[in-house]
Amino acid sequence: MNDSSTLHDPDETRRPEERCEDQQRRVTALLANLWEAAPAWRRRLEGSNVSPADFGAPDVLTRLTPIAKSDLAALQVEDPPFGGFFIGDLTSSSRIFMSPGPIYDAQLGTTDIGGFARGLRAGGLARGDIVLNTFAYHLTPAGHAFESGALSLGCVVVPAGTGNTEQQARLLKDLPVTGYMGTPSFLRMLVEGADWRFKTACVAAEKLTEDERAVLESRGGRVSQLYGTADLGYLAGECEARSGMHLTEDKVIEILDPATGEPVPDGEIGQVAVTTFSPTYPFVRLTTGDLTRVVSTEMCECGRTSARIAGVLGRVGPGVKVRGMFVYEDHVRAALSRHGLGAGRLVIRRTAGQDTLTLEIVEPLSDEQQADLLRTLRDAIKLRAEIEIVPEVDAEPPQLVDAREIWQA
Ligand SMILES: [Zn+2]
Repeated sequence: MNDSSTLHDPDETRRPEERCEDQQRRVTALLANLWEAAPAWRRRLEGSNVSPADFGAPDVLTRLTPIAKSDLAALQVEDPPFGGFFIGDLTSSSRIFMSPGPIYDAQLGTTDIGGFARGLRAGGLARGDIVLNTFAYHLTPAGHAFESGALSLGCVVVPAGTGNTEQQARLLKDLPVTGYMGTPSFLRMLVEGADWRFKTACVAAEKLTEDERAVLESRGGRVSQLYGTADLGYLAGECEARSGMHLTEDKVIEILDPATGEPVPDGEIGQVAVTTFSPTYPFVRLTTGDLTRVVSTEMCECGRTSARIAGVLGRVGPGVKVRGMFVYEDHVRAALSRHGLGAGRLVIRRTAGQDTLTLEIVEPLSDEQQADLLRTLRDAIKLRAEIEIVPEVDAEPPQLVDAREIWQA
């Protein structure tokens, strides 16, 4: 690897058969560990009629029933905090996170905790960059996960977090910040509001259209997309060839038919399911609800041999991602009923590259009542919304409407 290479390690250029054998070995060891040490996982293995004699079989993973993120949240409520999926002593962890759901997550160690270093390197960040990290540091993992990835590359991190836009604009004038990690919409706000020219931006948690990318790149350097989730960390990211997102090397990522749970043929749309190998908090076939498809399994011009996916093409199920947070219909229903309202719905729209939330209700509430209702909703979804009084709203679901154009070609 020469200095200009954006490869993170030699795994990225290994032959596909080597990758496959390596993953097979890791799956076998993982299942053996779960069988011995994690009662909740053992019950799931038994429920799929898989026993230790099967752990080395090449198709063993596809015989295990996938587990949905929403089911994980329900299991954690039944058996708090981790649903019986945690292995060993919780005090061996470095951090415990709480994501909307709520879903609890415990990280081991402090170096590149989500595996994002690989994607940040592919996106162009390197030692010598001073990077503004605008992902949230409170409760949810994103801020720490991106920070630890950038630190492990040798970058300097400015832990900006979300909000404080004026202070962030000020520091961009005062400090020689070259890199950015955060959502594309916040980047747009910074380049327009603070007249900031960046060198390298790694964006995630929101859809980025090519038009929006062109606008951002006209104000700075390169913008690359990464894909990851709070529970699973880094999953895929763009390289300099920008022809799909390379799957990461240290997790097994499958694309499954949302209806049957079976793997879809390459090229067809399905939902992302991930198997991870943390010694204390691994997952087997956790489905993310994100829809994507494999765009290529050929070697990329960058030299990487991993399959490439299209990025998030849509969502399965009722949860919707807005500004990096999940919003569920239950949130909306609960907020309305707490204020004695039945009819109402939350509509998500996209205007000038920004997602906006409008709570449409019929009841002519006073300003004070509206403020109370918005506060209840904000406490639940961690996002600001506006109220619009409308002549009528269907009392039946859906009470959460995603009016953004979420499908892309
Ligand atoms: Zn590539």
